[in-house]
Amino acid sequence: MTYDTSYLAADYLYYLKAVQKELRHERHALKVAHYLGIRIRIGWANRCTPDHPNGPLMVVTPWNYGNTDVVRHEEAHIILWWSGLEAEIIAEFGEELGWRVVENLCQFAVGFMRITQPMVDEAIRRYGVSAKAVRYLQKVSGADALTALNRLVYDDPRSCRAGFLLSGCYVAQTAECNWGLPFRWLDQVHNLRKRFPEDANVSWLKLTPSQTLGVCWG
Ligand SMILES: [Zn+2]
Repeated sequence: MTYDTSYLAADYLYYLKAVQKELRHERHALKVAHYLGIRIRIGWANRCTPDHPNGPLMVVTPWNYGNTDVVRHEEAHIILWWSGLEAEIIAEFGEELGWRVVENLCQFAVGFMRITQPMVDEAIRRYGVSAKAVRYLQKVSGADALTALNRLVYDDPRSCRAGFLLSGCYVAQTAECNWGLPFRWLDQVHNLRKRFPEDANVSWLKLTPSQTLGVCWG
């Protein structure tokens, strides 16, 4: 029986979260590498060799060495390889598309490694599933608005959440997890309140005079 790739992102997230739990939700990228036994070398390009005979090896450029998202991205590659899902992806999608799927997954994982589960749990405890919770995640992690929004919306693949970023009155970004937004990317939205049913669980706030962040759940 072949692997059902519709569960790919969810399966990878469960695996990644289990690894993070083992590491007590360590946030520092270099400490994560140390705990996982990943060696880091400085080189001319960012890459990793999960199956190196002496144990997993990561190479990063000098300016990306440190507590950076590039180190997190390479760690995500090694964790994906450990999960066995990388081999499933290549088998299902082939070399060319498969590696793009791998890249997207590992980039997606960076947000989960930068914004740890205790941060998300605390954000929800304080503000519920809301725009304020996303702003809180931005503050405590230093991540950008989209990373923080995706982290909250996709936290649990079984939950029903969505989020959006408006630039002026245009929809600049959307995130949907079992919850359908009433507009799409690049649509114009003039009156947010009128776009949602009265009883919808929706909140939004202005990040800047022209940028609006919104979150929905239920
Ligand atoms: Zn990569």
